[in-house]
Amino acid sequence: MTPASCFAGRKVALFGLGGSGLATLRALRSGGADVLAWDDSPESAARAREQGFTVSDLHAADWTEFAALILAPGVPLTHPVPHWTVDKAQAAGIEIIGDIELFCRERARIAPAAPFVAITGTNGKSTTTALIAHILGRAGRDVQMGGNIGTAILSLAPPAPDRIHVIELSSFQIDLTPSLNPGIGVLLNVTPDHLDRHGTLELYAAIKARLIAGSALAVVGIDDAPSRAIADGVTGAIVRVHVGEGMPEGSLAARDGCVFGADGTVLADLDGIGTLRGAHNWQNAAVAIAVVQALGLDAEAILAGLKTFPGLPHRMEEVGRRGRVLFVNDSKATNADSTEKALTAFHDIHWILGGKAKAGGIEPLVPLFGRVAHAYLIGAASDAFAATLEGRVPYTRCGTLDVATEKAADAAAASGAAEPVVLLSPACASYDQFRSFEDRGDRFRDLVRRLTQ
Ligand code: ADP
Repeated sequence: MTPASCFAGRKVALFGLGGSGLATLRALRSGGADVLAWDDSPESAARAREQGFTVSDLHAADWTEFAALILAPGVPLTHPVPHWTVDKAQAAGIEIIGDIELFCRERARIAPAAPFVAITGTNGKSTTTALIAHILGRAGRDVQMGGNIGTAILSLAPPAPDRIHVIELSSFQIDLTPSLNPGIGVLLNVTPDHLDRHGTLELYAAIKARLIAGSALAVVGIDDAPSRAIADGVTGAIVRVHVGEGMPEGSLAARDGCVFGADGTVLADLDGIGTLRGAHNWQNAAVAIAVVQALGLDAEAILAGLKTFPGLPHRMEEVGRRGRVLFVNDSKATNADSTEKALTAFHDIHWILGGKAKAGGIEPLVPLFGRVAHAYLIGAASDAFAATLEGRVPYTRCGTLDVATEKAADAAAASGAAEPVVLLSPACASYDQFRSFEDRGDRFRDLVRRLTQ
């Protein structure tokens, strides 16, 4: 754990008692703060009480006594409307910050030069964070990974001169971190997302830009207009990362499965690395290479890390083979944008899709239908998706994932393709049939295990 000592001997309000909220509460207490903690959800409050914490209703508190409001990142700071605790904190004139800010203050106090890599972007944050941490860990470095992925930042070991913190940050977390100053700040991309929480794309991009502005070295993907503009505003050290032809000056580029350095030499050939398939993963890999190079890793260590990256569950995850047939779990693909990445990465696809459809359905995927041998429909979106597939791709209505997996596996095995792929990439939310996308992907993994044993 990293104790948060910046409020030692003072009183603070904490709102939000989910996983990271409890970790923050623990860290503040062990740093000597007097914390009044609360959550609107009776279940969360009860869980905190069960763990021995005092939970007190912040409605009834005297807010002038607090030095700060520590807010969980899921709680609205500005959009659609500020949470009631935000109104109270603003009326009392106290600062509103989150757990990443507490970490930054602790780092500044105990080990200001401790290596700190912060990763953000609309897509690819978790993959890139996990990849950077994996390459560093395999090279024998002391790595702590967390933030928006896995472990809450204050549950990690404290900053130290030879310990590298590799931290994924959502824009909500950046918004609550005024003194964010990583040694290396990564921005992968900025596309419209979470606008309900940030108002406009400009405001959303401005939050992402703050991470880059505070970094000693910026690593920026420049393949969308907002990110390019952010890169152009950097006055300090920067590595630009570009996917596609051409190579803007001073950048790393990725194309055809290879990552090239600024002088045009091949830094890594990703061909054959199953966990880094697809142009989106070339971007993630190129960014990771830029980061670990800056941290002093040589070409051999970088390649060894890339080749052994296990990937993340539910993101184009290889979950089994039966004869020539490869099974891929891409359950995290809850919209057409994400599924597009998977359809682009494979051929001869037996595609399992459906669930609770998002606006626009699978219409944007029509140009990729040539890669699909057959589609297997599940869940509530079946009628709508069948209408889009009609006359373009043969399809079967399967109802459930169990039926779809079995039919797809048999048809793939019977096809003449060299490496047919049974791909679960639903382009839908899972809630009509599953608790979560993880639940859906776990179920698929189990079904495949049974088929391949
Ligand atoms: P995040 O943590 O930002 O949600 P993940 O690494 O979990 O991102 O990837 C989620 C999905 O986003 C993947 O399944 C893939 O479809 C897509 N994706 C991953 N990396 C990128 C990228 N660099 N650019 C665009 N899309 C990406």
